[in-house]
Amino acid sequence: MQITSQTFKANSVKALADVDLQRALGNVERGFIDKRQKAVDALPEFDALRDNAVAIKNHTLKHLDLYIEAYVAKVQASGGIVHFAEDADHANQIFLDIARRRKAKTVTKGKTMISEEIGFNAFLEKNGIVPIETDLGEYIIQLRGEHPSHIIAPAVHVNRDQVEADFRRVHVDLDPMRSLVEPEMLLGEARQILRQKYGEADIGVTGANFLIAETGSSVIVTNEGNGDLTQLLGKCHVVLASIEKLVPTLEDMAQILRILARSATGQDMSVYTTLSTGPKRPEDPDGPDEYHVILIDNGRSNMLGTEFEDMLRCIRCGACMNHCPVYHAVGGHSYGWVYPGPMGAVLTPSLIGVDKSGHLPNASTFCGRCESVCPMRIPLPKMMRHWREKEFESHLQPTTQRAGLGVWAFFARHPKLYRAAVSIAMPLLNRAGGSKRRFASLPLAGGWTKWRDLPAPEGKTFMQQYAARTNGAEH
Ligand code: SF4
Repeated sequence: MQITSQTFKANSVKALADVDLQRALGNVERGFIDKRQKAVDALPEFDALRDNAVAIKNHTLKHLDLYIEAYVAKVQASGGIVHFAEDADHANQIFLDIARRRKAKTVTKGKTMISEEIGFNAFLEKNGIVPIETDLGEYIIQLRGEHPSHIIAPAVHVNRDQVEADFRRVHVDLDPMRSLVEPEMLLGEARQILRQKYGEADIGVTGANFLIAETGSSVIVTNEGNGDLTQLLGKCHVVLASIEKLVPTLEDMAQILRILARSATGQDMSVYTTLSTGPKRPEDPDGPDEYHVILIDNGRSNMLGTEFEDMLRCIRCGACMNHCPVYHAVGGHSYGWVYPGPMGAVLTPSLIGVDKSGHLPNASTFCGRCESVCPMRIPLPKMMRHWREKEFESHLQPTTQRAGLGVWAFFARHPKLYRAAVSIAMPLLNRAGGSKRRFASLPLAGGWTKWRDLPAPEGKTFMQQYAARTNGAEH
């Protein structure tokens, strides 16, 4: 995917004016928040499970080399092969070598965000291999030539009418007079088309929610069953997974699973939790002849031992974006790269550099909802602040912004001066607000006043008002 994170502001302006998108984004708030809360309320041990999950992941990250070693040994013992990929190009090339050897022409795919990260589909197409997305949301956006706008609901930005129009445009062999008015009809049609593809595919590609060191298994968690068909009916199963998906044992996975679906969709559990361990054994009725895992680093090992290590606990549940007012307003495509919302605002600079994605950690109100709902207790606002600091230290912001921050930093270090300055400024700004007590424009605040007016200060500072109230001497 082309990196366009620096276009966040321009993308957001367009997104805010897009009526269809704004209507679709309402589904994020309606569809996820209440359901998550109900699921959490119904599980008294939810917070204890979160603590356990954090401990499991922290422990794994601390000993990642050992768990990778143990995992590889188990995969090999089960007849599978693990390939290490340093970066996106390396991962794609490994896959291409497998595909060429098998003379593969078509590849079915379960939903995998890491494939988006490495630009997998575009790479396959460039090399004459047809990728077929089998997750319904992914299938829809593939037809539209788009990328996911949400990590668990990739087509959340698309409405029913748009899907119908896309199906009629692409499924030209079907009866043009067929009815597609109900969502179930759209689902049925996608299923009818995709069912043929699984068995025909030369390779089935899935991601992994977990890799289990104890057993050498890869685990996918889905609601549609498409991932199971992808990995079972293809003649060769290739897992694309990043290194932080490791957990030590099945028991560890089971603990984290209990908070994953509840945080993501408000379900107690997703419909399918499927473990794959190696290729088909002689006694198995079905399964792939070959089983490969491409274990991808792509910048993650650089995060270990840094202030961004906590981000590697992420289990891609999407709760942070489901609760983010910025995501609700502008949607996932505005973020310009693979991962949107608060987790993207932290992960994207870690993976592609803050010089290319500095807008993202700045696109936050710091309301803290993301951290409060994150099942893995990832301190997202704190890490966004770290990125802002790094951006400042690297002189990446415009000069005016740096100057403003410099002035602010000076006053923050001299609280007496700050109080004196604001006690002079507040009454002046209060008077300048005129009878309406609002500013339609204000120097250095154009980013705000371009879109909305700004209330004038009350005339007294917060501290002055607070002192007056606590002394019982309001004027
Ligand atoms: S950062 Fe937390 S809330 Fe966001 S996707 Fe990752 S685990 Fe879920």
